[in-house]
Amino acid sequence: MSGTSAIAADERLAAYDFGPDHPFQAGRLEAGLSLLRAAEVLEDGDRLPFGPAADADLELVHDRDYLEALTRFSAPGPQQPGPAEAVRFGLTGDNRPFPGMDGAARLVAGATIAALDAVAAGDLTHVFAPVAGLHHAQRRRAVGFCLVNDVAVAIARRTRAWPSRVLYVDLDAHHGDGVQAAFYDDSRVCTVSLHETGRYLFPGSGEIHELGRLPGIGRSVNLPLEPWTGDDGFLAAFDAVVEPLAAAFRPELLVTQNGCDGHADDPLSDLALSLRGFRELARRLHRLAHRHCQGRWVATGGGGYDLDRVVPRAWALLWSELSGRRLPARVPASWLAARGQSSRPGGWVEPRRRRRSAAPAGARELAARNQRTVRAVRRLVLPPTVRVAYPIASRGGGAGRLPGWEPRAGEHQAPDGPLVLRDRCPASLLRRLEVDPGIHAFVRAPEQEREVLARIAEEPAGEVVVAHTPEGLVVGYVAVLDPEPGTRFASLPGLLEVGAVEVATGWRRGGVASALLRFAVEPDPFEDLILIASGLAWHWDLEQSGLSAVAYRRVLGRVFEAAGFELFRTDEPEIAYHAANLFVARVGTRVPTARRAAFTSRLVRGQRPMP
Ligand SMILES: [Zn+2]
Ligand SMILES: [Zn+2]
Repeated sequence: MSGTSAIAADERLAAYDFGPDHPFQAGRLEAGLSLLRAAEVLEDGDRLPFGPAADADLELVHDRDYLEALTRFSAPGPQQPGPAEAVRFGLTGDNRPFPGMDGAARLVAGATIAALDAVAAGDLTHVFAPVAGLHHAQRRRAVGFCLVNDVAVAIARRTRAWPSRVLYVDLDAHHGDGVQAAFYDDSRVCTVSLHETGRYLFPGSGEIHELGRLPGIGRSVNLPLEPWTGDDGFLAAFDAVVEPLAAAFRPELLVTQNGCDGHADDPLSDLALSLRGFRELARRLHRLAHRHCQGRWVATGGGGYDLDRVVPRAWALLWSELSGRRLPARVPASWLAARGQSSRPGGWVEPRRRRRSAAPAGARELAARNQRTVRAVRRLVLPPTVRVAYPIASRGGGAGRLPGWEPRAGEHQAPDGPLVLRDRCPASLLRRLEVDPGIHAFVRAPEQEREVLARIAEEPAGEVVVAHTPEGLVVGYVAVLDPEPGTRFASLPGLLEVGAVEVATGWRRGGVASALLRFAVEPDPFEDLILIASGLAWHWDLEQSGLSAVAYRRVLGRVFEAAGFELFRTDEPEIAYHAANLFVARVGTRVPTARRAAFTSRLVRGQRPMP
């Protein structure tokens, strides 16, 4: 095996074949592999050996009676089992049985398992499994050409044997519903799917409020995008969510589903990406793997049904990125001729358009809808501190500069010792302080937590107030933020958000949180401001606190009440969707009446009594 990357595919996978008139056919594999060989970027030594997946692995994700049905339906000759059983297990229509399908499906899963095993063990850094990423298969049902869920099986096998966090990023045009379902309540596997909205496309799911179930809430992330979303919109959504999510989740392994059926020429979706876009996405994933996962990356091929032009090129671009092998300047003419294609165009990606053709009617509205989706997803899955530390690129420099308060210092006598309270903490100071490992905010490593704080301090839209010991150990912080542009909160002038109140588990006695919050938002400098704080129950440190969501909200409510805040109801969808979420506000005494009224009419739906 050469270098640190390999490909988990060989001719045996051509057996995964629903027939020549079906989008998922043996020809996909041959078209892709033959191009890699013609371009001289694939050698025999690049093959990762693999065999069929074992029952024990498949049963981590699939029920035994479903697997047995797969075996029975695989027999050659006319179908033996009855049609009712075929319907029950989804083995009809697009997933009609074919002889040998059981062995073929096990081989696909075996390739993905071998890929994850090799990368997790450190034998290889990156592996590409082109015929893999059968992301729709459910526990006891074949769905959308997917008989077994190879990615879910391989991830489940890893997380069982190796206590690890896995980030799964699904770029296929269709929602990665099967993988999401397999880990819906698992806090160690974070699934992110960017796809065409289920309003128009199979399988219909993948809405933003599909967030997972405790203890895995917030670990299912969905970005449903509008039809005709092109490279720019897709990449913008990726950048706004995936990178900050990775920084906060700190995965040890990246698994991706690089389906290319979002290409403009693909027959099965309405997205409008180009090969240039897929190349950019591969670059970003590669960078993300090295930045957050020590390089560990398994990429699967997923969907893609323009077999002549798009799929082979998309695979070649991905393999080139992952393996470091340089593609020749042009697609080899011999390959084009053998595939019966004219030698033009012979490029790997679409030629850059000289002039942007006139945008189709409604394009602006679709782009605006995508932006709203992205912002809503950020509010749901990223706590405010991470949003400010990883701003959306469009944030105007200095647009939301916070008031220039004077730096102050204070003291608090906590039961466990004296604390220094410090306002306007500069990034340079934060990077010199240590962070108590008992701070269990969304970001779960002290050095990562410190970096997020430093990044907030560097942003004109953020301010960090810390409580640290005389020795320089940060045991708590408050972050005051300018609301993210484009949200309803940002539409009100003079509104600031208390983005976080965190105190390390060992210091949560003696009113440290209250003292820190009162110090951070002393009434005087804010009297013409509206301060709000919104907390989504799943962002809270419930696991460490041992409290119920309701009890925890009560504690938080008291801390804010002591600093002059009141609890309100709101119809802001990202807060209102769950009764355990918190929304508090403090309207300064000198806030003009009109602004006060605008705040009430836009965001508040009545006061609710402190529970
Ligand atoms: Zn690399
Ligand atoms: Zn697809």
